[in-house]
Amino acid sequence: VKTLGDLGEFGLIARVARIVGDPGVEIGIGDDAAIVRIGGGRVVLTTDALVEDVHFRRGWETPRRLGRRAFAVNASDVAAMGGIPRASLLSIVAPRSESAHDLLEIHRGFAGAAREHGAPLVGGNVSGGPVRMISVTLVGEAPRRPLRRDGARVGDLVFVGGPLGRNALARERRLAGARGSRHPPLPLPSPRIVLGRALAERRLSRAAIDLSDGLVQDLEHVCAASGVGAELELEAIPLAPALRRLARDAALELALHGGEDYELLFTAPARKRAAIEALASPAPVVIGRIVAGSGVVLVDRTGRRRRARPAGFDHFGRGARGRRG
Ligand code: ADP
Ligand code: MG
Repeated sequence: VKTLGDLGEFGLIARVARIVGDPGVEIGIGDDAAIVRIGGGRVVLTTDALVEDVHFRRGWETPRRLGRRAFAVNASDVAAMGGIPRASLLSIVAPRSESAHDLLEIHRGFAGAAREHGAPLVGGNVSGGPVRMISVTLVGEAPRRPLRRDGARVGDLVFVGGPLGRNALARERRLAGARGSRHPPLPLPSPRIVLGRALAERRLSRAAIDLSDGLVQDLEHVCAASGVGAELELEAIPLAPALRRLARDAALELALHGGEDYELLFTAPARKRAAIEALASPAPVVIGRIVAGSGVVLVDRTGRRRRARPAGFDHFGRGARGRRG
């Protein structure tokens, strides 16, 4: 193993986790966010960076919207723990030639979204650098019983908080070349903070992840952490309305592997189903179940089963290109 390309994003994280060893905290490396006891309380901690030409392109949306996006994708990881964001830090990198107005607009967007969510921008950093990078850290309130990637149990149902594929489709269309003003702005994800909180506080779920890399890959993270497998009913997966005009296979491909949904994927025992469906409107949807074994199996409408292709976003994988956090 010589390069990050050989190791892959998740291989790298596994090596880092080995270097760290046991950090002696409630939840350390390996979940959507860490949970740490500090003084008398417990906090949720997460950080994620958006890098120009990896996660976004200049001109795809206004700098203000980009700032809002940076908050949303980080808040999504807090939501995936059942936490509530309470304070945020923004570290920005940009070249000397950068428009000061644009940079302040990124901060306006970020600070606005952060304030609206009760997680004011309380600090950060600025540095010169070759491209735009927006690195965010959020600190949040921890639920008594967090939603963990290792909390899925055999027999649980698998739920998704809402329809999938819209953001991946918008990105594909942009990448396919269509430029600038002929396109509506990329959809802005809304982090599922209220849903995550309710699932944790009402003890409806023990296991969740936010969908950033793609349904299959993110569900595989839950399976691997929990030591279980999962079956997904292809017919049950809710597709975003924007996908309806695509061929069925193309739409499913985006929903299964496209990524950037920032929806919650979670598991719960079947007896909690009615209470979960009453939590939000539209209601969370059952898309499969947790089974003994490992990995994700796709079940089509005729009952035919096949193992899901392990495709999703890897920062150092082949074909890694402008997307996700
Ligand atoms: P997410 O997509 O939910 O943000 P990631 O796949 O980025 O999660 O990260 C998975 C886990 O690995 C998280 O717990 C994250 O904090 C941890 N992690 C990622 N990169 C590093 C790093 N460089 N050092 C320590 N922990 C890391
Ligand atoms: Mg996540």
